[in-house]
Amino acid sequence: MTETFLGMPATAPRGVGHLRGDEPFPAAARRGLADPQLRRNLGHATTTIRAKSAAVIDEVPDWQQLRAAGRAIKADTMARLPELLEQLEAAVVRAGGTVHWAVDAVAANRIVTDLIRATGAHRVMKVKSMATQEIGLNEALSGAGIEPVETDLAELIVQLGDDRPSHILVPAIHRNRAEIREIFLRAMPGVDPALTDEPAVLAAAARRHLRETFLSTRVAVSGANFAVAETGTLAVVESEGNGRMCLTLPETLITVMGIEKVVPTWRDLEVFLQLLPRASTGERMNPYTSMWTGVTPGDGPQAFHLVLLDNGRSAVLADPVGREALHCIRCSACLNVCPVYERTGGHAYGSVYPGPIGAVLSPQLTGVADNGSLPYASSLCGACFDACPVMIDIPSILVHLRAKVPHPRAEAATMAAAAYTMDHPALYAAAQRAAKLSRLAGRRGRGLPPPLSGWTASRDLPEPPPETFRQWWASR
Ligand code: SF4
Repeated sequence: MTETFLGMPATAPRGVGHLRGDEPFPAAARRGLADPQLRRNLGHATTTIRAKSAAVIDEVPDWQQLRAAGRAIKADTMARLPELLEQLEAAVVRAGGTVHWAVDAVAANRIVTDLIRATGAHRVMKVKSMATQEIGLNEALSGAGIEPVETDLAELIVQLGDDRPSHILVPAIHRNRAEIREIFLRAMPGVDPALTDEPAVLAAAARRHLRETFLSTRVAVSGANFAVAETGTLAVVESEGNGRMCLTLPETLITVMGIEKVVPTWRDLEVFLQLLPRASTGERMNPYTSMWTGVTPGDGPQAFHLVLLDNGRSAVLADPVGREALHCIRCSACLNVCPVYERTGGHAYGSVYPGPIGAVLSPQLTGVADNGSLPYASSLCGACFDACPVMIDIPSILVHLRAKVPHPRAEAATMAAAAYTMDHPALYAAAQRAAKLSRLAGRRGRGLPPPLSGWTASRDLPEPPPETFRQWWASR
């Protein structure tokens, strides 16, 4: 154990990691909307995943009960998170592992860098991990002279393309196979110049490139999908087998895990291992589920470090409405059904967490002022709520966060004036008479005057009814 400042509800620090974009959502979204290739790639990919997922969910007669169980387990976990984390720590230490508490991205990057340096290694292989992307671990390692190699195929495409991930599950969803071929030809060492864009050929090229890494790298860094408090067992689910290689071949394994990923018991895991693959990849069961508990002599990594990451999570936990965002199991189902995500793509959200879950998680991790446009990146259609395997009520959290976003002075003044008017019957009646006059303006097609003209620039000004309720009431 190193230090224990975790639990103080501070937001994620600025200047490190990838939770904040360079520009607000509407500006970044405009670029995505203007890119027809991106929209074609996204439309094709999300439609395919949606159909696969719907088909396998239909096979489960108690899907709604499973969702309710997932939700209940997560709510219970959040209610006693400190106690469960301490239980997890004790179990991991008992099994021969070491636990480190990282209050934020800076601390986590420092802990991981120091651990790798202590092994003498200059290269690490990585299992796909949202937590390490969140804290900008690759940049921190490169800055310390350590080469991180992504081993998940889509992450490798993103890394070789010097690109940013745009989807939780399929980070290179914005790329088609012709673009991937170009990236491989440009950046993959020793690639066959006659490479075609056939998926099997591209996968074989990546496999050849990665095999050498798996067999020659002594340290691996992973994330974790779940950690069982009662046994100290960590779990990673994946589809390609690269995770299994990274978790079993190296001498040292370092796992960086958000503190919300803990589940109380082994039995609880059963619920999530049914929910996750069907909701995310549309599979009955994910091809690889790797679980490990501490260190086993003569089998697998002989040194295991677990880094428990806060980075704003305690601040999210402190909000009784917003904390539900911590229930997320990163399946990405909400992205695949979101009409906004499908049109703008993931880069528009600025953060490593795109789509509906990103719109509620990122502003809470950073503080709403730093991601103030994200709670508005939604039509509030509710498709994300329906799709979420753990029933996170994303639309309600979006509305909750919108109320916390600092509003422009003109808007705040307008709302205060409206509230005052509604509170005073005589003023309210006068306002209604004035609204009637505005019908004439509407008829002449003028819309509202500035600063409200932006509202009527793309909308019809609703016509007030010929008679107000008060007039109707008085006439009776
Ligand atoms: S919010 Fe729900 S649907 Fe979206 S990624 Fe998280 S668990 Fe999946």
